[in-house]
Amino acid sequence: MKIKTRFAPSPTGNLHFGNVRTALFSWLFAKKNKGKFILRIEDTDVARNDLKSVKNILEVMKWLGLNWDEKIYFQSKRFSFYKKIITLMLKKKVAYKCYCSESVLKNKKKYQILKKKKPKYDRTCRNLKNNIFLKKKSFVIRFKNPKSGYVEFNDKIRGMIKFNNSELDDFIIQRRDGNPTYNFCVVVDDLDMKITHVIRGEDHISNTPKQINIFYSLKAKIPIYAHLPIILDENKKKISKKNSNINIIKYFKEGFLPEAILNYLVRLGWSNGNKEIFSLYEMKKNFSLDNVGKSSSILNIKRLLYLNKYYINNIISRKKIILLLKYYFKKENINIKYGPNIEEIFNLFKKRCSSLREIVVSSSYLYNKFLNLNNIFLTNLSNKYVLIVFKISYYNFKCINLWSSSKIWKKIVLMSFKNKLYLKNIINILRVTFTGKLNSPSISKIIFLIGKKKILFNLKKCILFLKKCFI
Ligand code: GLU
Ligand code: ZN
Repeated sequence: MKIKTRFAPSPTGNLHFGNVRTALFSWLFAKKNKGKFILRIEDTDVARNDLKSVKNILEVMKWLGLNWDEKIYFQSKRFSFYKKIITLMLKKKVAYKCYCSESVLKNKKKYQILKKKKPKYDRTCRNLKNNIFLKKKSFVIRFKNPKSGYVEFNDKIRGMIKFNNSELDDFIIQRRDGNPTYNFCVVVDDLDMKITHVIRGEDHISNTPKQINIFYSLKAKIPIYAHLPIILDENKKKISKKNSNINIIKYFKEGFLPEAILNYLVRLGWSNGNKEIFSLYEMKKNFSLDNVGKSSSILNIKRLLYLNKYYINNIISRKKIILLLKYYFKKENINIKYGPNIEEIFNLFKKRCSSLREIVVSSSYLYNKFLNLNNIFLTNLSNKYVLIVFKISYYNFKCINLWSSSKIWKKIVLMSFKNKLYLKNIINILRVTFTGKLNSPSISKIIFLIGKKKILFNLKKCILFLKKCFI
């Protein structure tokens, strides 16, 4: 059997950890079994879909490298095909037109709720004879669900799951506006696209018996189902689209590596011994639904940060990181021509930052032509003191011939010793002046990277600025 899986998102928002984990598991299962993986956009609910979400889906899938094997399917482009199947189902009497008006249905539902009954369509139209008066009335099309018996399936993750048909409704497969509904389109597509394994979120378990009954009504074999446990947010609540921390594209913007994201996602529910770090190759080689747990996973963004840092420092080639850093500098509108080499930046910041954008933002001051002179007030030392440090720094740095961070450091130590100034204070002043921050990598390295010319030029400006403050 040629394995075929699909990822079938509805374009109603940005992809989050939950969706993308489903996509990854479906993709891995297909790859592991030398099968195919397809992407199907489930956009039948015209009112809720938007193009921005479609764009987001494609962007995320491409960024993560979750490539699909056939053309992308859009359900909205397949309406005529769905219509054909519905006509066939009407003919075979496994579906029927329901002429009940919306207000009647609403009232019946209200009454059922009042009576503490599960609201269900009462099947008024199930056996209606064709009536010429009805022809003019608007209608929906309902599936003729079996009234008795049960539906059973062996879920790859959760084992046998059974539903009584008496629990199920004659649900709508075509709306009043003529558009087909989700549960119907999924079946038609899974069948038409020869999907062998439906891997999706646990929230779809209750849809599965309905879908299986449609498969049976079409005399078709059902696919194998695997429902993935849900992902909870850091507060152990069901993840909601409102939580911006789960929006995958955010991590692209923040400079996370797709390899780290995939590694993080694969461990949300799947395990392979105690192994934590998986290359894509290893994931593809070892993935199996048998090792997907039943319990829900909890998001841990700290862990993701740790993994990303680990990938930046240990896994991804230097060459690739440098290229990516250049991209993120550009995105921040930082012109890297006017500052240190990116390689140097990487060396200096890689152990301090968890993402590429963090490296860029943390080092951006190295590319400023002029300093923000107000930085010099960031220490609580007096202006007079600061001025002295500037002056001696200017003269001492000026006489360094071979500009290197070790020479700079020696000078700083000497300055402190000769002038009886605390080393800590000198460092503080130079740090806030040149970085605008209270924390930074080694100050001698920073001064080295900024370069002698720029350092002296700016020190001179600082001296003039402070002198003016005294007047
Ligand atoms: N379109 C559905 C969703 O986004 C998924 C359907 C399925 O996987 O069967 O939740
Ligand atoms: Zn009806």
